[in-house]
Amino acid sequence: MKHEIIERFTKYVKIDTQSDPNSHTCPSTPGQWTLAKMLVEELKAIGMEEVTVDENGYVMATLPSNTDKDVPTIGFLAHMDTATDFTGANVNPQIVESYDGGDIILNEELHIVLSPTDFPELANYKGHTLITTDGTTLLGADNKAGIAEIMTAMAYLIQHPEIKHGKVRVAFTPDEEIGRGPHKFDVAAFGAKYAYTVDGGPLGELEYESFNAAQAKITFKGKNVHPGTAKGKMINSMKMAMEFHEHLPANEAPEHTEGYEGFYHLLSFQGDVEETTLHYIIRDFDRQQFEARKGKMEEIAAKLQEKYGKERIVIDIKDQYYNMREKIEPVKEVVDIAYEAMKNLGIEPKISPIRGGTDGSQLSYMGLPTPNIFTGGENFHGRYEYISVDNMMKATNVIIEIIKLFEQKA
Ligand SMILES: [Zn+2]
Repeated sequence: MKHEIIERFTKYVKIDTQSDPNSHTCPSTPGQWTLAKMLVEELKAIGMEEVTVDENGYVMATLPSNTDKDVPTIGFLAHMDTATDFTGANVNPQIVESYDGGDIILNEELHIVLSPTDFPELANYKGHTLITTDGTTLLGADNKAGIAEIMTAMAYLIQHPEIKHGKVRVAFTPDEEIGRGPHKFDVAAFGAKYAYTVDGGPLGELEYESFNAAQAKITFKGKNVHPGTAKGKMINSMKMAMEFHEHLPANEAPEHTEGYEGFYHLLSFQGDVEETTLHYIIRDFDRQQFEARKGKMEEIAAKLQEKYGKERIVIDIKDQYYNMREKIEPVKEVVDIAYEAMKNLGIEPKISPIRGGTDGSQLSYMGLPTPNIFTGGENFHGRYEYISVDNMMKATNVIIEIIKLFEQKA
């Protein structure tokens, strides 16, 4: 299995699939089509059935049931795109056999070192086979590790028909990193009762809580007058914007929060005297507090409208996704089975809230409850990204074990 995983993973990461928020196509970039087509061929080659890719680049396939038992159809998903934060072109994966626990030289020429001094969690990987970058790109373990693990699990089950299982659906999806992964996902065509995204980080991660998320855009319209004759006439839009921000609690920001704490995050501040625009994201695990945060922003805007005139402040708040816990808790068995699968394999499950979203946050609200499980990767979205092949094998085995448990419990 080890050789198979390395071969698949290194093949996938060499295709540049970085997504692009400024593109209006789906997938947002042509590289994702290249990978989608490659995956379709591979799914067929390993013996999967009903292999399809739709006009938006969503790849789906079926592992048919081999039991008479009435087992719910479950699905596994991974996304094909890589993060926008760092380049994913010309990824040149480096394999470190039986890692000795010391510095890993990613790039001698550029003096780029992956060191336990900066990344103490490297200590967990002594003796493992690691895959790293060459220091000039991200790796793309997020989420090509998930694709390799799902593919390898399917190939294994096809080669081992003595393992009984229900119908399994898999999907490889575009544009997760720009938040559009589920937008064109056909839940009905997928036809699963539950699914798992295989899109987490280190060994044991099991997540079914995400933020509730909204974005806010506030536009301030000033009045520009020659500064020499501005007395009593000029309205400086930047100063209105600063006043707005001053009304938000200073400690409720990403740099001051962790765990279950929510925040307001000022993403950008662009303006001049005439007009200023602020972009925020609002995050909270608790739905009521989330609504209260949005209310607080409306309230501040209303106060400033009273002071400067209604037409001078325009506030636009849009919800982005919600905490999937609300949808997963009523069908908690989907989490319990993943937990049990990890326990059966001697892996300690680590359940923690995601301070972000996954495709699962949106899919759960589209009628497909979808928690997230680990891939084995670390330091996603940058040049220090790496993954343990040993833990990739464990992730593959967790997928197989989940499938087995659904059959056993039916
Ligand atoms: Zn991801």
